[in-house]
Amino acid sequence: MARNLRGGIDLGGTKIEAVVVDSGNTVLGSARRPTPTEGGPPDVARAVADAITDAATAAETTPGQLIGVGIGSPGTIERTGAVTNALNLPAWAGETYPLRATLKRWLRTEVFVGNDVQVATEGEFHLGAGRRYNSLLGVFWGTGVGGGIVLDGKSWLGRGGSGEIGHMVVKLGGRRCPCGRRGCMEAYAGRAALERRARRRVKKGAKTDLFKLMAKHHHPRLTSSIWFAALKKGDKLAVELIDEAVEALGAGIASAVNLLDVEAVVIGGGLGVRFGAPMVERITKAMHPHLFKDDTPPAVVSAALGDAGGALGAALMALPRHPSSMQVVRSTRR
Ligand SMILES: [Zn+2]
Repeated sequence: MARNLRGGIDLGGTKIEAVVVDSGNTVLGSARRPTPTEGGPPDVARAVADAITDAATAAETTPGQLIGVGIGSPGTIERTGAVTNALNLPAWAGETYPLRATLKRWLRTEVFVGNDVQVATEGEFHLGAGRRYNSLLGVFWGTGVGGGIVLDGKSWLGRGGSGEIGHMVVKLGGRRCPCGRRGCMEAYAGRAALERRARRRVKKGAKTDLFKLMAKHHHPRLTSSIWFAALKKGDKLAVELIDEAVEALGAGIASAVNLLDVEAVVIGGGLGVRFGAPMVERITKAMHPHLFKDDTPPAVVSAALGDAGGALGAALMALPRHPSSMQVVRSTRR
């Protein structure tokens, strides 16, 4: 039975989301697996294969019957569909692994690999909050701050390294970024940087419930829900650090808008989705003083596809005729 079903996978640092969709992008089956924290790239690839197999089973099919599977992956995506230097995945730093070729063999279907943030931006552009616009900046505020760009309806990938909005410099000689440079937006706004900052402040005697909440909820990290809960309680340190994060996001996003003049900015990611519309409003306000054309600001909207956005966007890569010029690796047999 040919149902023209496609698979989409969002390969994240903590979890793997998989969906199987029909030709109208309706989710027929989905599955979620934790990302392996030990082992190496082959173990991650195995977990990805298991996740899409689960989603296919839920949709009453098998991976081999899908017309293709798209994967949004961290790291640098080579033209061959190999993935290099995926820092959030185990033993993948400095390594190149043939993710596409391996999964193609295991799943017995066509496989496409794209950058996770760009794929999620594509998802919002075609199916979510960006549908009404022709140009879009996706800002994914989570562990780091990632960006995706769609201009004139087409993905802008640069030479493969575009969209690194987290590393826009918002303060010369400023705070050290997880990337090792100074003054990046991510150094003030990324979840990892925020946690590092909070720990340092506690060592210097600052009072906060952040780490008590973390222990109470048995989380190994200050997750977006912990930050959300602390803000709700008016925790002083949390409020101060998130205020600073919002200022940095405002400056960084506005600078990108000054350069690109996109019609809309979509805010997603773990923190972005968790904080939702009220935070989008705050970011919009924080952007304003930095906008050069402040009489025509872009629309700033919350990502609409939620947790499944990355997987839905990834599934777009497996469309027989992909709607944009996104760089995808296709076999010549199609
Ligand atoms: Zn940086």
